[in-house]
Amino acid sequence: MTLLSPVWTALLYLASAVCFILALKGLNSPRTARQGNLVGAFGAVIAVVAVFLSVKLDNIPWILGSIAVGSAVAAPVARRVKMTQMPQLVALFNGVGGGAAALVALLELPHAGDGWVRLAVVFTLLVGAVSFAGSAITFAKLQELMTTRPVVFRGLPVLMALVLLAAVGTGAAVVLGGSGALAVVLLLLGLVAGVLLVLPVGGADVPIVISLLNAFTGLAVAASGLVLGNVLLVVAGTLVGASGTILTRAMAAAMGRSVAGILFGAFRGGSTAGSTAVSERPVRSSSAEDVAVLLGYAQRVIIVPGYGLAVAQGQHTAAELAQALEERGVDVDFAIHPVAGRMPGHMNVLLAEANVPYESLKEMAEINSEFKTADVALVVGANDVVNPAAKTTAGSPIYGMPILEVSEARQVVFLKRSMRPGFAGIENDLMYEPQTTLLFGDAKESLTKVLGAVKGL
Ligand code: NDP
Repeated sequence: MTLLSPVWTALLYLASAVCFILALKGLNSPRTARQGNLVGAFGAVIAVVAVFLSVKLDNIPWILGSIAVGSAVAAPVARRVKMTQMPQLVALFNGVGGGAAALVALLELPHAGDGWVRLAVVFTLLVGAVSFAGSAITFAKLQELMTTRPVVFRGLPVLMALVLLAAVGTGAAVVLGGSGALAVVLLLLGLVAGVLLVLPVGGADVPIVISLLNAFTGLAVAASGLVLGNVLLVVAGTLVGASGTILTRAMAAAMGRSVAGILFGAFRGGSTAGSTAVSERPVRSSSAEDVAVLLGYAQRVIIVPGYGLAVAQGQHTAAELAQALEERGVDVDFAIHPVAGRMPGHMNVLLAEANVPYESLKEMAEINSEFKTADVALVVGANDVVNPAAKTTAGSPIYGMPILEVSEARQVVFLKRSMRPGFAGIENDLMYEPQTTLLFGDAKESLTKVLGAVKGL
């Protein structure tokens, strides 16, 4: 006997699915993202409550205990994580989701009589295991627990092909009625495939692979919905699978790369992992006071935020500087590159946090034609996203990536701590150009000094 009738259960599942769809809609824009997140979380709560009330569950103390332990670990981690560490947190949560789907499928195999259901079990097992192991490796790479560079060794493609062939063979045997032991072998093959898939991916490509694995987890969860006969899992899994696929393609396009190039580029030596050598060429550096004069007497300033602004947590000071300049009659905009920072939409989130008006945040396509009208492009902790090598240097790790055309501005000012390169590990020739000035120091400290000097003009 359960508390909810099938009709009420279906209605609650429908409400939950609607919440998930509204959540995705909300995540479309920084203005509504926070609300979207809350709606999604509310949908998940409805789904969990509906399951408790509609299914005759065994082992309730174990289930409640697991929820308590999971929440006790995840809530403080999610609260404390720095914005710059978000991609690896997403990788971890995503991997756990894939692993959970695989374990559910393994436990459900003895109850799966129908051939189609056994096929769904095999799919969930394999894809869930790939997602779990792949996400664990991406986490280790981004957390720098291992090298962030591509790891390739002789025979890797052959080994990968053999593992996939073995997985297909074992999967077919399980579908045709093979034992639980074979399913465990399939799980292990999936784990090995996940590791081998992600090892050759390095550098800036790693977060794109997280998004791809996210799509994998969605598909595994949708298939586990077929195994369990649960419509909501099918809907939620499909939404994650579809949105993960769209995000993967959008990020790859923003970096000017193909998904195949990201996964298999290292075999051809085409991955995004440059050197970290620093050139000795002379540059023009100046003081905060000089930069303040440049900005304070300009008509048009475009601020280009990047990863360094996020690290320095200088967003509030950048917003204050923009405001101080506008009070002097300077026209100020922020130019947002889609992959500036370390996660999609990083700069939108950062600047929204500092209450920069949305009208001042200009996307790359919109602002690029405006740099030639700018007196100063103030590049704060950004490097790769303004590096002209993406247009001029074939063979560069970022060649083909669309960039912000800051070199078109009359003056370019970089705020950074040293001559070290950005994520892609390559030099930026723009720093040596005659119209470029560097103000060395932590972005927040430099912005504070420049702000003080602008106020004193
Ligand atoms: P970059 O990583 O190219 O450059 C960041 C710059 O910030 C560095 O040159 C660094 O120089 C400087 N910096 C670091 N800390 C500070 C600080 N405290 N104060 C001042 N400056 C600082 O950043 P971009 O945003 O230009 O480009 C993002 C890169 O990350 C791209 O290559 C992109 O492909 C990649 N990427 C983006 C993802 C996304 O989804 N957004 C995901 C993964 C990778 P110095 O050390 O001298 O201070």
